[in-house]
Amino acid sequence: MKWSKSLIQTLRDNPQDAEIDSHKLLMRAGLARKVAGGLYAYLPLGMRSLKKIQQIVREEMDRAGALEIVSPVLQPAELWRTTGRWDTMGPNMFKLRDRGEHEFALGPTAEEVFTDIAKGLISSYRQLPVTIYQIQWKFRDETRPRFGLMRSKEFLMKDAYSFDTDAEGADRSYWNMYRAYERIYARCGLKAVPVQADGGDMGDSMTHEFHVLADAGEDGIAFCDGCGYAANLEKAERRAAPCADAGCPAFEEVATPDARTIEEVAAFLKLPADRFVKSLVYVADGRPVMVCVPGDRDVNDVKLKRLLGAKSVALADFETVLKATGANAGFVGPVKPADAALRVVADVSLKGATGRIVGANKEGYHLKDVDLARDTKLSDADFADLVVVQAGDVCPKCGKPMVIKRGIEVGQVFKLGTKYSAAFNATYKNDKLEEHVMIMGCYGVGVSRTLQAVIEQSHDKDGIIWPAAVAPYQVCICLLDPAEPEVAKVADELESALEARGIDVIVDDRAERPGVKFKDADLIGFTVRVVVGAKGLANGGVEIKRRDEDKSKTRVVAPADAPAAIAEALA
Ligand SMILES: [Zn+2]
Repeated sequence: MKWSKSLIQTLRDNPQDAEIDSHKLLMRAGLARKVAGGLYAYLPLGMRSLKKIQQIVREEMDRAGALEIVSPVLQPAELWRTTGRWDTMGPNMFKLRDRGEHEFALGPTAEEVFTDIAKGLISSYRQLPVTIYQIQWKFRDETRPRFGLMRSKEFLMKDAYSFDTDAEGADRSYWNMYRAYERIYARCGLKAVPVQADGGDMGDSMTHEFHVLADAGEDGIAFCDGCGYAANLEKAERRAAPCADAGCPAFEEVATPDARTIEEVAAFLKLPADRFVKSLVYVADGRPVMVCVPGDRDVNDVKLKRLLGAKSVALADFETVLKATGANAGFVGPVKPADAALRVVADVSLKGATGRIVGANKEGYHLKDVDLARDTKLSDADFADLVVVQAGDVCPKCGKPMVIKRGIEVGQVFKLGTKYSAAFNATYKNDKLEEHVMIMGCYGVGVSRTLQAVIEQSHDKDGIIWPAAVAPYQVCICLLDPAEPEVAKVADELESALEARGIDVIVDDRAERPGVKFKDADLIGFTVRVVVGAKGLANGGVEIKRRDEDKSKTRVVAPADAPAAIAEALA
């Protein structure tokens, strides 16, 4: 391919809405172009990398025995109503009507469609296990699309669904996909780590997310170097001992006018934040509940849900707080709330806590010297691990301190059980002709997101550094004297020789200065750069350098030896 015919357009400046490096580079290197907020066109270079990632995903799915199909983007509402998700998916789902007033969704995922298809295709245990997948565009009406392809309204996803006769089979299907994902990311040149994640509606069911570690990642992940424990902060647990506080005198009220936040009260009373109990009123499935955590910690909603056995939890509004406690948020606490029947729960680290400061349930006042066991209704069953894990918290598995890193989620594997197959009555007959519901798993790879994750993980100040497997072109030949027939001939022959080896190559034949060509080659980040010029040829050959190497590693080889040397540099 000749650069002059490639419609490549690099940009000098970062787009204004780009917050993270990979988004900036995606646009500056001319891989994609914004059509509207959260909507992107993939330009020729970006399309080439996207197709390479798709192909890796496809090959590994096929190798794992999965069968490719494609289902419509436009999905009828009836399928979503079968599982109740037409109503529970919320405003993230694009909904529309056709001219006959029939309702449809632009698929954000495809559990319903695939379960319905499997129900129609599968009748006997002899057809199982089976995994079917597609690579298809998905849609989410993001409140705030950002980070380029990371959080866009339209994205390319591989989604797979497994169907099994029993739990052991479903387990095998799960790990089969898990291993396929490890291969996919490794082949894309990505370091993606599997981490335990929250099962959401599915309760304790098994799920792993694959994360690319990057400071720009939206997800926090707790890691233990001691035993390898890794979990999304939504899910991450910690081991916390009850406190061994000494007794304290009877509590007393202290005036804390105008001090509402822990920081303000701490400053006012000149006490450290961890002496405070932070009390928050939540509404769990419609009923108020007070949650107490150490003053310097945050409540983990997922853990709270689990302790309460609730379907939904959310912070209570102003009126609910006032009615339940008798005060406004900022002055509420677990001692004698206005609603004597208000349930109070607390983080396990507060068990045995004495001498604490809590809100007095009275505007402008706190209580000091509170003994939670003595002064509240908290019983043993009300204590649990309820906070978001922080760096230094103790690993639940081995007891070593954990660290927190940031990650970009590029894939997830999930055991679904019978949630969807039961709703659709998707059954098979066993060898005794008895009918049973199939057991399912679902497995997603964010294909377009993976493209950007590669850039986020592999770049420097000059631009992208593409791993050879997913580079738009693996080799860029910078032709320094395109007007000189002899030099152009060497470049043409080298291009043909590389293509004959299955290496894709672009020849920068523009009438630009060398500096411009080098800058663009570095910005786009072709894996290997080859410089062909009259001066170099007179001095013995062409210059070969990998994008991830510095100038000192440049080697000069005779044109005849260049194809082999380039192939070696790519390997
Ligand atoms: Zn550990």
